[in-house]
Amino acid sequence: MAGFDLHTHSVCSDGATTVEDNVRRAVALGLDGLGVTDHDTTAGFAAAMAEAEGTDLELVLGTEFSAEHAGVSVHLLGYWIDPAYEPLVAELERLRDERTDRARRIVGRFQELGIDITFDRVAELAGAAPIGRPHLAQAVIETGAASSTREVFDRYLADGGPAYVEKHAVTPVRAVELLVAACGVAVLAHPGLYGRRDGAEGIPVELVEEMVAAGLAGIEAEHPDHTPEHTRRYRDVAVGLGLEVTAGSDHHGEGELDRLGAATTPREVVERLRRWRRA
Ligand code: AMP
Ligand code: ZN
Ligand code: FE
Ligand code: FE
Repeated sequence: MAGFDLHTHSVCSDGATTVEDNVRRAVALGLDGLGVTDHDTTAGFAAAMAEAEGTDLELVLGTEFSAEHAGVSVHLLGYWIDPAYEPLVAELERLRDERTDRARRIVGRFQELGIDITFDRVAELAGAAPIGRPHLAQAVIETGAASSTREVFDRYLADGGPAYVEKHAVTPVRAVELLVAACGVAVLAHPGLYGRRDGAEGIPVELVEEMVAAGLAGIEAEHPDHTPEHTRRYRDVAVGLGLEVTAGSDHHGEGELDRLGAATTPREVVERLRRWRRA
């Protein structure tokens, strides 16, 4: 299977597989490259490099950075970032702390809803990883109040749901600036999945234009949860703005839809993306 799967998660955030598993799987599939993009962390880089050594797999090390706009989370994929760039390190740390505080608030919401999960159990399930909603969903499933992650999200945890609490993150423009300053390349993740409080679908194009002015390089138009209409629309938006069009599986380890390699970006696009890097 040719191409680069530019969007994957591991146990370093809310995925179910290790970074080593993902690298081995990518090699077995014959992928050209693999994006290592855990939420708000660069913790998987060393393990990914060690596992990929001696193989033909090209790693694109990055993070899926949390931003927010009008109370809705917006995710930016930052590739080839310098994991030691201090302002980025500081912001990632702040985001992880915010995730911990937010998890406490979400646990409170579940308790009010009569679902008895504890923060300690959630923290245990997350281990060293930044706490994400999938960890909270797992704790809920353990109580027997729901039988699948899907069900927990549909009933409680999806954006705007009764147990949903927003994360306080930076603006999308600031996120792009920070990733670019860290010598990275910023790509807007799954734009079709952002709801808006006013009920309108999607992310305002003016906001994308502001991100472009800040250095946005691409849009992940192809994603397993996008409808064909989303993919078409955001491909057109990207082309219209002179941006690269990327694809990734958003692999979290269990599902069939988001299996590794489910969506791939051609090598020439990755080569062009790399040229967006500021020296
Ligand atoms: P968080 O970063 O804590 O807000 O959680 C975001 C993660 O939750 C995403 O990366 C997905 O893994 C998962 N997620 C978000 N929305 C849904 C949904 N509607 N159904 C299932 N999983 C979801
Ligand atoms: Zn996730
Ligand atoms: Fe995301
Ligand atoms: Fe993701």
